[in-house]
Amino acid sequence: MDSVAAHSLLFDLLPIGAYRTTPAGKQLRANAALVRLNGFSSEADLLAAATRLESDWYVQPGRRQQFRESIERQGQVTNFVSEAYRLADRTRIWVREAAYVVRDADGAVLYYEGTVEDITQSHTTAQALAENEARWRLALEAAGEGVWDWHVQTGQEYCSDQLKRMFGFEPGELQDLAQELDDRTHPDDQARMRQDREDHFNGLTATYRNEHRVRCKNGSWKWVLSRGMVVSRDAQGRPLRMIGTHTDISARKQAEALIWQQAHFDALTGLPNRRMLRHQLDQALSQVLPGGPGLAVMFIDLDQFKEVNDTLGHDVGDRLLVQAAARIRECLGPADVVARMGGDEFTVVVSGEAGTPVEAGRWADRLQPLLQALLGALSAPFDLGPHRVFVSASIGVASFPEDAQQVEDLFKHADQALYVAKGEGRNRYRFFSREMQAAAQWRARLEAELRNALAQQQFSVVYQPMVALATGHVHKAEALLRWTHPTLGAVSPAQFVPVAEASGLIVPIGDWVFDQAAAQVAAWRQAIDPDFQISINKSPAQFHQRATHTVSWVERLRSLGLPGSSVAIEITEGLLLDTNEAVTMHLNDLRLAGMDVSLDDFGTGYSSLSYLQKLDIDFLKIDQSFVRNLTPGSTDLTLCKAIIAMANALGMQVVAEGVETAEQRDLLCQAGCHFGQGYLFARPMAPDVFERWMRDSTPASRMAQAAEATTSGASGAAGGSA
Ligand code: C2E
Ligand code: MG
Ligand code: MG
Repeated sequence: MDSVAAHSLLFDLLPIGAYRTTPAGKQLRANAALVRLNGFSSEADLLAAATRLESDWYVQPGRRQQFRESIERQGQVTNFVSEAYRLADRTRIWVREAAYVVRDADGAVLYYEGTVEDITQSHTTAQALAENEARWRLALEAAGEGVWDWHVQTGQEYCSDQLKRMFGFEPGELQDLAQELDDRTHPDDQARMRQDREDHFNGLTATYRNEHRVRCKNGSWKWVLSRGMVVSRDAQGRPLRMIGTHTDISARKQAEALIWQQAHFDALTGLPNRRMLRHQLDQALSQVLPGGPGLAVMFIDLDQFKEVNDTLGHDVGDRLLVQAAARIRECLGPADVVARMGGDEFTVVVSGEAGTPVEAGRWADRLQPLLQALLGALSAPFDLGPHRVFVSASIGVASFPEDAQQVEDLFKHADQALYVAKGEGRNRYRFFSREMQAAAQWRARLEAELRNALAQQQFSVVYQPMVALATGHVHKAEALLRWTHPTLGAVSPAQFVPVAEASGLIVPIGDWVFDQAAAQVAAWRQAIDPDFQISINKSPAQFHQRATHTVSWVERLRSLGLPGSSVAIEITEGLLLDTNEAVTMHLNDLRLAGMDVSLDDFGTGYSSLSYLQKLDIDFLKIDQSFVRNLTPGSTDLTLCKAIIAMANALGMQVVAEGVETAEQRDLLCQAGCHFGQGYLFARPMAPDVFERWMRDSTPASRMAQAAEATTSGASGAAGGSA
């Protein structure tokens, strides 16, 4: 039965072309749609034109052969897409064919029947798309990007050659699977990458963007910036396909790492710096469990570093710091941290062992060997090229959690403990205590109050006579500062002077004292003695001022018509250790202006005799701690005698401080001491009281009555804090 004839109506009504051909390629029938497709108006015209299908129909002659092979092997052809010639005018079109073979009862092939669909339009659109894609790929690759095209649900991923080369692979070396790259992603970066992908899949981000490391063929890691976008989704909105790029950002990451390193580590010693330590401590503290092991923060400060730097230069100073850092490191366990906070300050953080909660006493016991080791390591000699240098260290310790819970407070408390260790004479460690905090708070309070004290006229100056021991004559007095605060009352200079020194407030305050004393000495040179001299205490901090400052003191004397010798400057031994050139010049300027220099509190400081010769010193003041215990035959008497003998040999005069008894006075006088200053003679007095005291006593009476003054104490001391 003729199947085409049987279905003739259907055959002709089909919207797509339909035909029957012989296996040899001769067209037997064509329906109306196929006639139209080929540009004819009748079937006869078409049949007449279609004589040799392999060359007349297919643009690629081999297609007909492929068509036949397929149909003979499988009995049918489906979805056979080719480029063909429209038979009427030989314009090119794209067609999709389907066909099957019709056989006779014996199985011999009778003919082929099939359909032809003109898909030119959709095909060219797809083609254009593909070309478009090829073009942007090319553009991206030219810009140095690797391109990937991921079929999310099948797991297929096509990577451009450029992308493969980025990781050291030849084209074709990596399988076209997303897993290949995922497996090469750094373990630390995977979670983040998955999250960024999920966010994009779920529509939380317009584009996918992630930075991660990929393991290259040679095992090294490369940082890439991956950017992409889902370009198609299924009916449920799940991603089907995602396209994107990889950009090599290793260079940028390296630069960033370098900047980070520079921002968090000390270039000289390679140790973490303050910022890094803060960061590490913040982390450590956030992980500490209640009742768990605590930790200790140790502030270490090298005691004589400044001197080394000043005398031997910064290169030597730097080498010292590098060695000190290494020595500290050697004292520590692997879990302990040491950081350089700047200058000669280091910080060590030691954690308690897991499972041993910090009990105040035991914790300190545990830390002591380490602290001793640190002190020992840092006080051993440093061989720095040709120089052998000795320094020591002071250490302040604060513990978490009992001393403080916050990093900033731990630092503050360790610093307070360090302050105490330094104040107690260096080369030692101190644990933070609540009393230290109270003292620190008191100092802070004093500092705040001191800032207003000058403006509010809370200061006054009192004068204590220095009596010539052999004669009872008085032509010298020491100016001593007094501070009477409206609510705190009289505050002792022993308390506020160090605070004023540390804050720099001593400079304006000291200038004010100088002005008072200068005016006073001018008055007393007229009223009491034309050679009267007032000693003024001057702190090291006042010597670190610019040279103009010295000039102004000299100027002030001159403007009052006073010679330099009307004033003596009292300095401490510590100042002589200061190798700063500005200090030496400053002192010389004072001396050049004719002022006397008096070395205060002699015997309490470093007492190195060598510097006594280096500087012209006029007076040496024996500290009251030696005078206090003077008895016949005492060691202190021997010491006083030695000091006096030495001073005489060097051409200096000696003042004994804190003379309170007639016995002390007599012993000192016998030893050849020139002047005595102390409650035995008079307390520091306000100017009018001083004048009355001078009027009411004679040299002889001062010598005779002196013993009584000891007990009366009522010689009119102003301020009352002496
Ligand atoms: P300094 O210069 O050694 O002053 C001597 C201190 O001993 C004074 O204490 C004085 O009142 C006290 N003193 C005098 N005689 C006796 C005595 O017989 N027995 C006892 N126990 N003490 C006696 P003050 O006035 O409290 O001053 C303490 C320190 O404060 C001074 O020690 C000085 O270093 C500093 N200071 C005082 N006024 C100034 C100042 O105007 N500028 C600076 N930079 N420092 C000052
Ligand atoms: Mg003094
Ligand atoms: Mg003194």
